[in-house]
Amino acid sequence: MAAAAPRPMTKYPDGFDKWVCLYPAYINKDKSRAEGRRIPKDKAVSAPTCKEMLDVLSTSGLQVLGERKIYCREKSKEPPYWGRVRVQLKNQVGESVNPKFSTRDDVLVFTAEKIPQLKTRTNPKHNQDQQQGKQGKGKKKKPNSKGQLYNIEWWKKKMLTYQARYGSRGAPSRTVVRSWITMKIKRYKKAQRILGFFQNNFDLRPPYSVLLDGTFCRASLEVKVKIKEQIPKYLGAQTKLVTTQCIILEVEKLSKMRANLYGTWMVVKQFPVHKCGHEGDAIPASSCIKSLLQEKNPAKYIIATQDDDLRQHIHHSVTGAPILYLYHSAPTLEKPTDKCLKLASESNKLLTDHEEKTLKSLKRKYIGEDDQPPPKKKKKPKNPNPLSCKKSKKTKPQPQNEEVKRKRKRHKKKKQLDEEASTSSGK
Ligand SMILES: [Zn+2]
Repeated sequence: MAAAAPRPMTKYPDGFDKWVCLYPAYINKDKSRAEGRRIPKDKAVSAPTCKEMLDVLSTSGLQVLGERKIYCREKSKEPPYWGRVRVQLKNQVGESVNPKFSTRDDVLVFTAEKIPQLKTRTNPKHNQDQQQGKQGKGKKKKPNSKGQLYNIEWWKKKMLTYQARYGSRGAPSRTVVRSWITMKIKRYKKAQRILGFFQNNFDLRPPYSVLLDGTFCRASLEVKVKIKEQIPKYLGAQTKLVTTQCIILEVEKLSKMRANLYGTWMVVKQFPVHKCGHEGDAIPASSCIKSLLQEKNPAKYIIATQDDDLRQHIHHSVTGAPILYLYHSAPTLEKPTDKCLKLASESNKLLTDHEEKTLKSLKRKYIGEDDQPPPKKKKKPKNPNPLSCKKSKKTKPQPQNEEVKRKRKRHKKKKQLDEEASTSSGK
C-alpha cells in the first residue's frame, strides 16, 4: 500500500508496483540459467513470446498486464523478443490472490505448461489461416503491416546480411533496428498505395495474376529471391504467378546457347502457363507480353520484368499495367506511369468539358453572383503595375545607398585628412 501511495496511478491499477515482472526468457528452454531461465529445463518451453504468456495467463484468473520492455539479458532486440508480463500475485494487504499461485515460480511453471497447448502451437495452420483471411479481406491494413515485423525469417535474413557487412560485431543497435522497421513499413505501405491506385482506377483486384518473364526469373536467381514467397508477401494478397509458352520456349532456346541460363529455364518452367494465342507458333517473349497487354491490359496482369525496353513500352503505350521489378533483392512496384495518372485524373472528373461549360453558362444566367468574379479579374490590371511596384521596392532600401555614401564620405574624409596632413607637413 505504501509503495503505491507516492505515485498517483491513473493508468495502472492500485498496487501495480508490487505486481511481479515476468519475461519470456524466464521460461525459455533454449536459454541457460545465466541467460535468464528460472525454471528447470524439462518444464520450460522453446521460444515463448510475451503474447503467448499473456494469452495463457489471461485464463488463469490472475490480473495480468503486458508492458513493452526488453529483458536486460536479451541479446537480440527484435520485436519477437519484446515485452514482459506483469502479474498480481498478492493483494494490497499482502495476501496471495490465488492460493494456486503463491510464488512467481508457480506462475512460470503454469505458463510453460499451458503454452504448448495453445491453438497457435498445436495447429500452426490456424494462425496462418487467420492471417490469410485478413489479407484476403484487405480491410485491416495496419495489423498487416505490423504483422510483417513478426516474421522471424525476415529478421534472421536481416541479421545475416548485417553480420556479413559488419562482421560478428554483435547485435545491431536500436537505431539500426528502428530504421529497418520504418523502412519495411514504408516499403509495404508504398506498395499498398500503388495497388490501391490501380484498384480504384483500373479495376485491378486480388487475386493478382503476375506475369513473369525470363529476365525477372534470372534476376531472382542471381540475388536468391524466392519468388513464390516474396511476391505474395510484398503485394499483401493472394497472387497467381503465371507465364506463357512463348516465354518458356525463348528461355529454353537461350539456355541451350548459354549454359548459365539453364537455371532460369528450370525456374520459368515451374509456373502455370497462361494461353497467349501463339501456341504452336511461338513469338519473342517481349512481343508476346505486348500482345497480351494490348493498350489497356484487359487480363489485368501485373508484369514482373527487368527488361527496360518492355518497361519503356508499357510506360508509353499501355495503361493499367503495374510493373514489378527487383531492386537488389527486393520486389518493388513501379509508380503509376504518367499516362495512367492522366487517365485516372480524367476519369475521376464527374462532368465532361462540355457539361462544365454549359453548367457555368447556366449559373451565369440564373445566379448573378457567379458573374462577378470575371470583372474582378479585369479590374486587376488597373492596379499599379507590378513592375512599378518592384522598382519601388528596389528604391526603398535607401539605407544601403546611405551606407555606400557614408563609405565614400569616409574615403573622402580620409583622403582629405591625408591631404591636409600632407599640406600641413609641407607647410
Ligand atoms: Zn505467346
